[in-house]
Amino acid sequence: MRIQRKRTRRIQLGDVPIGGSAPIAVQSMTNTDTRDVAATVAQARELVEAGCELVRVAVPDQKAAEAISSIKDQVPAPIIADIHFDVRLALLAADHGAHGIRINPGNLGGREPLKKVVDRASAGGLALRIGVNAGSLEKDLLAQRDRPWADRMVESALRYAEFLEDRGFVNYKISIKSSDVPTTLDAYRLLSEKTDVPLHLGVTEAGTLIDGTVKSALGIGMLLSEGIGDTFRVSLTAPPVMEIRAAFAILRALKIRERGVELISCPTCGRCEVDLISIVNQVEKQLAHIVTPMKIAVMGCVVNGPGEAREADIGIAGGKGKGILFRRGEPVRKVEESELVKALISEVETLEKERSRTA
Ligand code: SF4
Repeated sequence: MRIQRKRTRRIQLGDVPIGGSAPIAVQSMTNTDTRDVAATVAQARELVEAGCELVRVAVPDQKAAEAISSIKDQVPAPIIADIHFDVRLALLAADHGAHGIRINPGNLGGREPLKKVVDRASAGGLALRIGVNAGSLEKDLLAQRDRPWADRMVESALRYAEFLEDRGFVNYKISIKSSDVPTTLDAYRLLSEKTDVPLHLGVTEAGTLIDGTVKSALGIGMLLSEGIGDTFRVSLTAPPVMEIRAAFAILRALKIRERGVELISCPTCGRCEVDLISIVNQVEKQLAHIVTPMKIAVMGCVVNGPGEAREADIGIAGGKGKGILFRRGEPVRKVEESELVKALISEVETLEKERSRTA
């Protein structure tokens, strides 16, 4: 399957382009107290190391807005201020160097505050995200109960888009999220037919690690597979770095972007004579820092292991007391079971060095 990406216009968020032919940008949000600069910087840097390209921080009060000055200087990615209710915080975040502002116009208190944010973003070269969700639709749209949510959310988003464009502002993207996957799909599909504004995808309040990843993989993944979406966040009730891992797993699965290790591991069966789950967990943890794209297989036995993982760059297959290290499905050497993880990690690191030399 070849994904034909829908052509959107390109906008600029700090040094990251979004839309047009720019790579689909991965983002996440810190869950530290933004006023705690050290903690927020540490978490933001961890996210960036994991592949996060845009970092959003919550701005619930004046001190949080002011903290952006120091945070942005210490994080090698654009910082987006997440604003609700209070337009003054949006303006303050802009004054303190935020590269982008995410607002939900539905809870900002009308057109006048929205105008202030748009004019400030325009003057400072900031990007905006217009976030529309079912919970904060305008009253007249809320009252139209016979219309599907998706239709009404799209109409709301287009009204705000028109307001921005009438003011000559084009450096913005739109999100139109719901916690319900079918509604999210309907809304984004409809919106993408009606506008070329870059779209920020997400399934809001998606849930815990497994449920949230599944919902996001379906909601975001289906849209991406249809060519819709220019940036996205996987929202999880989990450490934010897991959102980045999930994001790249979605991109890798669709062959849109590659980064780091794709781990192929067998489900285990009665032939497995090693503690494969523990081995896979150790391997996943120890290879989390690898950036170079590669496929690594961790298989339970030599009967089917190497053959099943022929496409893997490097792999191990368990056995009784020993295992086999293989490259591209071909056995390389036997290794004691207790040394399997170490041997695999060392092979991967060697391969990474080789690849970064030739890159
Ligand atoms: Fe079973 Fe071996 Fe296949 Fe794993 S690789 S599922 S242990 S047959």
